[in-house]
Amino acid sequence: MTSRPPVQEAAAAAAAAIPALAGMPPRQRAAQLLAGADAIDERADELIELASAETGIEAGRLRGEVRRSTVQLRLFADEVVSGEHLDVRIDEADEEFALGVRPDLRRMLVPLGPVLNFAASNFPFAFSVAGGDTASALAAGCPVIVKAHPGHPQLSRRTAEVFSAALTAAGAPAGTFQLVEGEREGVELLQHPLIAAAAFTGSVRGGQYLAGLAAARPTPIPFYGELGSLNPVVVTPAALDARRDEIVSGFAASVTGNAGQLCTKPGFLFVPSGSDLGPAVAAAVEAAPEHRLLYPKIAEGYADRRATILGTDGVTVQTEGGVRFDDDQEGWARPTIVSTDLDTLLRESGRLSEEAFGPLSILVEYDDGTRLAELFGTLFEGTLTAGVHVAEGADAPWVAGLVAQMTAHAGRVLFDGWPTGVAVSHAQQHGGPWPSTTTSTTTSVGTAAIQRFLRPVAFQNAPVELLPPALRDDNPWGVVQRRYPAGESRSWGTAAASAD
Ligand code: NAP
Repeated sequence: MTSRPPVQEAAAAAAAAIPALAGMPPRQRAAQLLAGADAIDERADELIELASAETGIEAGRLRGEVRRSTVQLRLFADEVVSGEHLDVRIDEADEEFALGVRPDLRRMLVPLGPVLNFAASNFPFAFSVAGGDTASALAAGCPVIVKAHPGHPQLSRRTAEVFSAALTAAGAPAGTFQLVEGEREGVELLQHPLIAAAAFTGSVRGGQYLAGLAAARPTPIPFYGELGSLNPVVVTPAALDARRDEIVSGFAASVTGNAGQLCTKPGFLFVPSGSDLGPAVAAAVEAAPEHRLLYPKIAEGYADRRATILGTDGVTVQTEGGVRFDDDQEGWARPTIVSTDLDTLLRESGRLSEEAFGPLSILVEYDDGTRLAELFGTLFEGTLTAGVHVAEGADAPWVAGLVAQMTAHAGRVLFDGWPTGVAVSHAQQHGGPWPSTTTSTTTSVGTAAIQRFLRPVAFQNAPVELLPPALRDDNPWGVVQRRYPAGESRSWGTAAASAD
């Protein structure tokens, strides 16, 4: 059994691991991430069986998620070895510096310290115990304490056991990775003085509450929350003419996959007035089988939101679907599609513009694309994604204005596709302005996620024997170093001037 230590011991053990982790050569840290990935792959069958029983997610989807999680760990291992995440910059000492003598300055990013990770319910692998927040914090060199999600406790314990044993066998110091359980434990750790940062994936209400606690500590810490999201998608008249059937089937698959329990589910589809898309979408989603929801709390929340939306004036039911509760209080859902128009959405935004975490989406008819573009930011203050289906060369000028609005209010703007399915890679951005995140300058997916758990330090005129290896001229870790030679300041401004 992996021990599940009380809060004080967990925080102390994590803090004790800091010196060994911070001084560890990148290849050694990368080897630990690879060992963790291999161990999870080796136990995939057993873990998937546990996950499926606890979450109701079918095995095929879970297998893809395990793969996503272990590919993610391997991606971070390579990133660690490259050292790009350390953002090393070296200013050589310069007697003739434009502003007087410049000292030798060497700047890099160092690990923040113990990270508390609130695991998500809906990705029992990719956003849970050994998921993206854990992988990116370990890659940064931070010890990690995961607060298990109560929706899959046995899976959390077993994953932690497998992952932790692999890290230890690969040389990770004690305290590098730990699991705790319980709402109270999560809150106590968040307020513990030894915790340096927290990551969270979950509801807007939960994330906002916990972010408030992190900010109200005597020593406030960064809280990186990825919160529920709305993911509006707009279809232009020309795109609908060109690809009506494809748009209907793609939308239906994106809404019903995983019973809509994805932070990237398209919550709104904006279609031209008179397009009469409702019956076709209803027919497409009705083919989806009834699906168990993740756990009773999510099912209750979804049933409430669905009832509110169905009971809103000006909303028409296209397909009613439903939620039923079995004897174990587990909820089972069939997809619900409703439609309305832009003015009703504006008027009733208090009832309609909150996430419904399940297989429900709202079709919104718009008359005037220019008006939709103008109103986009009013309707969606911040969202993880925003999408638009276009017909290149055939669209009205308002589409460019809409894309500008989407850029201002979303973390990922996508064209001719659906927001579900997030590529884990270098250029990915998962996180948009509030309320889709608590910190809109970062991402929780992709290699840039490491940056959340690092902070910069500059060393001025440091003797070589006291410099961290990454900052030394002989560069023993072989990391990427940006060097700025003496004399360079005399030509500053010429590149910009010659570009004019
Ligand atoms: P949740 O209720 O907010 O719970 C998430 C985690 O936070 C759990 O570990 C929970 O612990 C803890 N927590 C929440 N409120 C707390 C409080 N007041 N005090 C202490 N701990 C608290 O979220 P969920 O219902 O499990 O997940 C569904 C939501 O996640 C949806 O809204 C979905 O959109 C969102 N989500 C977002 C993303 C994204 O990347 N943006 C990804 C996946 C899911 P306890 O349960 O023990 O209290």
